Amino acid sequence: MPTSSAPRAATPVKAGTYTVRAGDTLSGIAVRTGVSVAALRAANPRLKTADAVQAGWVLTVPTSTAARTAAAPVKAGTYVVRDGENLTVIARRFGLSLNQLLGANPQYRGGKAVWAGAKLVIPPRTASVTARAPVTVRATGSRPGRWAWPLPGYHAISSDYGERVLDGDPEMHYGVDIVAPQGTPVRAARSGRVLESRADFERGWGWTVVLEHPDGWITRYAHLSATLVKAGELVVQGQPVGRVGNTGRSTGTHLHFGTYLRWDPRDPLSLY
Ligand SMILES: [Zn+2]
Repeated sequence: MPTSSAPRAATPVKAGTYTVRAGDTLSGIAVRTGVSVAALRAANPRLKTADAVQAGWVLTVPTSTAARTAAAPVKAGTYVVRDGENLTVIARRFGLSLNQLLGANPQYRGGKAVWAGAKLVIPPRTASVTARAPVTVRATGSRPGRWAWPLPGYHAISSDYGERVLDGDPEMHYGVDIVAPQGTPVRAARSGRVLESRADFERGWGWTVVLEHPDGWITRYAHLSATLVKAGELVVQGQPVGRVGNTGRSTGTHLHFGTYLRWDPRDPLSLY
């Protein structure tokens, strides 16, 4: 944990490089550095073949106008969504909160998915935005960089964390829905112990696995086609715990990934 006064998450980029920490993902690094995954890949030849980054790698973070153009508005105030992006990521790239971005694009309220090619209105930044993620991260005592993405290679989010409308009713969506093919292995985001591994159709989770991590964090993986662990079992980070499916209250093949601190729901994307 940082002990200096400099907030870690606010100052990740030094002289155009980024040193990969354990648990980092390429998409997480893209969020932190404000550069698209495509631009990072283009600036770092070894990323063109590697699916995952490794701790200790020093990545070049492009700062040239050309590289930034990929992630910049096509014209002032608008942005064309790129493949694999979601509103949370786009909001952070522009230094906005999700609510600020939704305020300018009300058609996406309620957790509606945004797809590549869609045009978003980017509202002007306000001063209040600077105190976002780092504050949350510290308050919860989490150590960023220690989380592994449950579906390496799959980063398209079809439904963000937060309020949404499902079957005509407003509800809170305590997790993110990640799109991946049926049967894709779902990997433990952290090491821990299996709290639940069962069919939970009463609450709509379908086949679901819940892991308990040593520092009070809990992760849920739902709508699985199969579970690969048993309750009480110890699992290590990255271990397959189930397979992507479409069971329970689900409208398509995807993984519901939920994160909780002592059962208090948190946006999974705030941890990457
Ligand atoms: Zn979900």
